[in-house]
Amino acid sequence: MPELPEVETVKNELLPLVVGRCITGVTLAWEGIVKEPSVDEFCSRIVGQEISAITRRGKYLFFHLGSQDFLVIHLKMTGSLIVSQDTPEPSKFVRAVIHLDNNTSIYFRDPRKFGVMRLIRDASNIKSKLGPEPLDESFTPQLLAQRLSNRTAPIKAVLLDQKVIAGIGNMYADEALHAARINPWRPGGSLTRPEIKRLHQEIRRILWAAIENKGASVDTYFRPDGSEGSAHYEFKVAHGLGGETCSACGGPIERVVVRNRGTYYCPKCQPLK
Ligand SMILES: [Zn+2]
Repeated sequence: MPELPEVETVKNELLPLVVGRCITGVTLAWEGIVKEPSVDEFCSRIVGQEISAITRRGKYLFFHLGSQDFLVIHLKMTGSLIVSQDTPEPSKFVRAVIHLDNNTSIYFRDPRKFGVMRLIRDASNIKSKLGPEPLDESFTPQLLAQRLSNRTAPIKAVLLDQKVIAGIGNMYADEALHAARINPWRPGGSLTRPEIKRLHQEIRRILWAAIENKGASVDTYFRPDGSEGSAHYEFKVAHGLGGETCSACGGPIERVVVRNRGTYYCPKCQPLK
């Protein structure tokens, strides 16, 4: 699933391709991709609007449009946005095509069909439900401590809760916990000050590194030019991509299920105290 580094990469790489362009039409191969307003209104209201900026919050992309509307896109499990020349026959996994005024289009490719688009006036409803951005200056160890305090759920699950911190998903939660040597089952509120400091530092280090590497192409994530990211080559545990043994201690990596999410960790480096 695209997480913060993947969505940030998509935003960064879309910017030079689509900002300043005007939307000339939308073709939907799967109408369920439009969550609001109605499909008819979505398709008519978006036409003629210029894309003036794109911003990211958590795993959401916000296309700022000329008439003060926002086109809000969530890639969910398997979505990618690929910009290329117009073609009469997009690939079979393309669910929506946003046509631009220079004979290119944004192709919303989404094999599993969980991705969504919204055309809305007021984005504050979505943004207010999200926790802090982990790469913002204001995200300090103290703020992380506050967000974790009194949490009884396993730290792995707490990190995935977008209301606690925005943008972290299954891959980067496993990577951050492994690097910080924290067991995924530990209740969020039980972490000590030094552990929180380590976790804070590792979350930021790992997310920045993954952005440098243009995201992780496990499953179906592609960059806007159709190429893959390389962040997954640095995974130590996530998705089992770090191999069967821990690069830090040589012990076996184990897979467990924490609150329905497959979780990889090293029992030796991340003991349950
Ligand atoms: Zn280990």
